[in-house]
Amino acid sequence: MTAIRIDGKALAAKVRAQVAEDVEAFGKPVCLATILVGDDPASHVYVGAKHKASHEAGIDSRDHRLPGDTAESVVLDLIAELNADDAVDGILVQLPLPEHMDEPRVLRAVDPAKDVDGFHPLNAGRLFIGEPFLVPATPSGVLVMLDEYGVALEGAEAVVVGRSEIVGKPMAALLLGRNATVTICHSRTADLASHTRRADVLVAAVGRPGLITKEMVKPGAAVIDVGVNRTEEGLVGDVDPAVFEVAGLMTPVPGGVGPMTIAMLLRNTLIAAQARKP
Ligand code: NAP
Repeated sequence: MTAIRIDGKALAAKVRAQVAEDVEAFGKPVCLATILVGDDPASHVYVGAKHKASHEAGIDSRDHRLPGDTAESVVLDLIAELNADDAVDGILVQLPLPEHMDEPRVLRAVDPAKDVDGFHPLNAGRLFIGEPFLVPATPSGVLVMLDEYGVALEGAEAVVVGRSEIVGKPMAALLLGRNATVTICHSRTADLASHTRRADVLVAAVGRPGLITKEMVKPGAAVIDVGVNRTEEGLVGDVDPAVFEVAGLMTPVPGGVGPMTIAMLLRNTLIAAQARKP
């Protein structure tokens, strides 16, 4: 058996086209502001891609780039300014921040109504109590993928490997919200394979190349590989490509989850604008 390959690029293009249509129908300006501190090359590429995608969807954007030695107070002042600016609907602080900054404190400074990354404790809490508003883009993109490919979630055994605030925990909350039976695994999990082998839906969000091997996967399972690992062989996921031989459907890396993330960020920006300017 060879797994159906989930086409993240095609699906992301579809979501982006829908957002563009919805932005036009909304009829009011929608604006995303980004803050990037430091000179991490990957972060500059990501932020550039977010601006390009925003413009293609008819979303205005503001690009704030600050040197790596900027004081945290300067970033907090900028966030306060953007919070108060009625023209700004979404604020995104590109991670990672430089070491001298307290990342949770900076993220908590963003107005939850403009928190398009969904990292503010209020938005995280809303997701966990079943009242989602702005949900982190990567796991919500995974949910769209599962739906688009017709994966049944109700009553399914879902196993999420990784428990970060950005991917693992919100992914688990989304799957629980859809009535899957959810197991969250992490670095202290004893016998990881005994959990992953039970999964009808397996999401790997770890950051360890090839951690999930084909012996760890139930035949026919839906396998979503969130991992992005830079190796000498190029970009690879957390799931060994040999898993394509046993899974029912699976995302490739690259071209799977990655493209969905920006599409869902655009959607979050529109959701924030719609909530602020009904
Ligand atoms: P993270 O914050 O480093 O979290 C990694 C998680 O994996 C932690 O919960 C950790 O457990 C767990 N873990 C580590 N080693 C493990 C092992 N051997 N067995 C089981 N669990 C293990 O990473 P993240 O931000 O969630 O990102 C995860 C991956 O997704 C990375 O490769 C990242 O680049 C990628 N990513 C991709 C996108 C995208 O758009 N495609 C977006 C975000 C992230 P502990 O909690 O016990 O330490």
